[in-house]
Amino acid sequence: MTMQKHEFKTEVKQILDLMIHSLYSHKEVFLRELISNSSDAIDKARYESLTNPDIMEGGAEWKIKITADKDAGTLTVSDNGIGMTEEEIIKALGTIAHSGTKEFLKALQDAKLNDNPELIGQFGVGFYSSFMIADKVTVISRKAGSKDKKAIRWESTADGSFTVEAAEKETRGTDVMLHMKEDEKKYLEPWEIKDVIKKYSDFIEHPIVMDIEKEQESSLDKGKKIKVKEEETINSQKALWLKGKDEISQEEHNEFYRHISHDFSDPAKIIHYRAEGTSEFASLLYIPEKAPYGILFRDYKIGPMLYVKRVKIMDNCEDLIPPYLRFVKGVVDSSDLPLNVSREMLQNNRQVEVIKKSITKKILDTLSEMKQNDYEKYISFHKEFGRVIKEGLHYDFSRRESIADLLLFESTKTEPDKYTTMQNYVEGMKEKQEDIYYISAQTRQEALQSPYLENFLDKGYEVLIMTDDIDELLMAGFEYKGKKLKSVIKGDVSFEGKDKKEREAETKEFAGIINLIKDTLRDDIKDARLSSRLKDSPCCLVSDEGDIDPQMEKVFRAMGQEPPVSKRILEINAGHPLFSAMKAAYEKNAASAELAENIKLLYDQALILEGSKPKNPAEFAKAVARLMVAAIEKNA
Ligand code: ADP
Repeated sequence: MTMQKHEFKTEVKQILDLMIHSLYSHKEVFLRELISNSSDAIDKARYESLTNPDIMEGGAEWKIKITADKDAGTLTVSDNGIGMTEEEIIKALGTIAHSGTKEFLKALQDAKLNDNPELIGQFGVGFYSSFMIADKVTVISRKAGSKDKKAIRWESTADGSFTVEAAEKETRGTDVMLHMKEDEKKYLEPWEIKDVIKKYSDFIEHPIVMDIEKEQESSLDKGKKIKVKEEETINSQKALWLKGKDEISQEEHNEFYRHISHDFSDPAKIIHYRAEGTSEFASLLYIPEKAPYGILFRDYKIGPMLYVKRVKIMDNCEDLIPPYLRFVKGVVDSSDLPLNVSREMLQNNRQVEVIKKSITKKILDTLSEMKQNDYEKYISFHKEFGRVIKEGLHYDFSRRESIADLLLFESTKTEPDKYTTMQNYVEGMKEKQEDIYYISAQTRQEALQSPYLENFLDKGYEVLIMTDDIDELLMAGFEYKGKKLKSVIKGDVSFEGKDKKEREAETKEFAGIINLIKDTLRDDIKDARLSSRLKDSPCCLVSDEGDIDPQMEKVFRAMGQEPPVSKRILEINAGHPLFSAMKAAYEKNAASAELAENIKLLYDQALILEGSKPKNPAEFAKAVARLMVAAIEKNA
């Protein structure tokens, strides 16, 4: 066979052009791509040898060998896999078979590669990525199982064409020899090669070996050092997630978990399973013991590592997991996705969706099971990650009730450090109680002292205590088993029965003084009315149902935004002696200056009770001092 020259297909030319002029800063991925091809070729040979033993040609020690020749300036990746015939090599290394290629090229054009060189790495560019670091590539391949040493030699300088000619090769498989560009010679350094392999190909199932030069004492001439070459396996080969459940020791899990999570403690829970059928993937996931630093930051990296057929595609694949489960670490290894899958392709990929759904369910089930069977451990988990999971109430509408079932709450009926759940709450609701009551506060202590709770406590209603920053945002409008969540510090509260009638009567009785209060405070409040909340305190301020309350105002400020202004409603405790006294004063002289001053004082007290400052602290202090003097003089 004489040498033949072939033109590359247009798409290949475009890809090659991109590679040659690439500004991509992680050109080392070329090695990942070549090793991955070799690993595939070995997998194929191994599979075929099951039915055709000739493939083996007597040798079954599968391996991938890296050889760096500094003098020649070449790096060679060799495998003893399936190899290629002339026809196969022309097709494989002259065209592009991937369905994603057109999209890839289009995305690159749209994104202007020079501005976004990192796109290259995200796409996983296969064999042609060699041309990022080599100006000439020579491939010698011999199909496994052929009777003679006949092989094929492919060569290209990426100038639009390649050549093929007959060659000889001792063993089956493929050698890919890269003639390195002058400024890419660092990839000929053994430590650099090792680094790259460790980084991207550590879990490749087949050994990746390299001859390493070592100094040894000469056996002939004692005391004299001589240099010897020794074959060293560089990758750990441990694709832990592909092993059976019983084949992995706790120690191996711990080591692997620490390796991928950069955590120092052992995982709290291991989720290891394989899916077969419509979607084939293996996943090995870990729930950490402690929340990692930064989990609440916006730029926290979300998602497990994505492998495709044992080749690492990316460290964090955020399309595989919902953000409210972002604390989960691990690996997903898909058999269905193409190796050159891009971030863009992942976003609306059906396979990815299927995996995500399956993982999400598995994690939620695992947590639910942990809550059932290992409650103490679950409590520790919840302390660390309850706040994160809670986000799911808002973001995962279809699973919101199962997420709600995973949440633990303190309530007015739980002992310190003990918890209840929404389900327990609902089961313990009073007859005719329609809503799930909650109060949000900084701490349990602060909540329990709140005047807003007085009547709930007195009448034996349970109130959930919420102390997370996002509770107000999440709970407003949330419904659990058809019961609305209702903040006790917002909107009107009325208890059924006797209470309701009493209140109607009192509203008539106190109408005069209430109107005066409304009038006097018209610049500060939206309304004044009698309260069903209060028992011992004289008054309180509440937000109207749809308005924002002080907790929510804090959330706004924490996000660096000024909350919208909203006036509150002043609620008055008709049972408090202060009001009988004020009512009497009103009936005596509605226009009295003293009464007006007392109404303002009342408002200031309400502000203090909700945790705000009096409108004018100096005025307030003066007024209180005046009242004290009067009281002392009267009693003296
Ligand atoms: P991909 O590996 O994603 O298919 P590549 O451009 O890397 O894309 O490789 C194209 C094809 O070339 C492969 O599908 C395979 O058929 C063939 N090939 C590449 N490297 C090898 C190898 N080491 N041994 C056998 N075949 C190979």
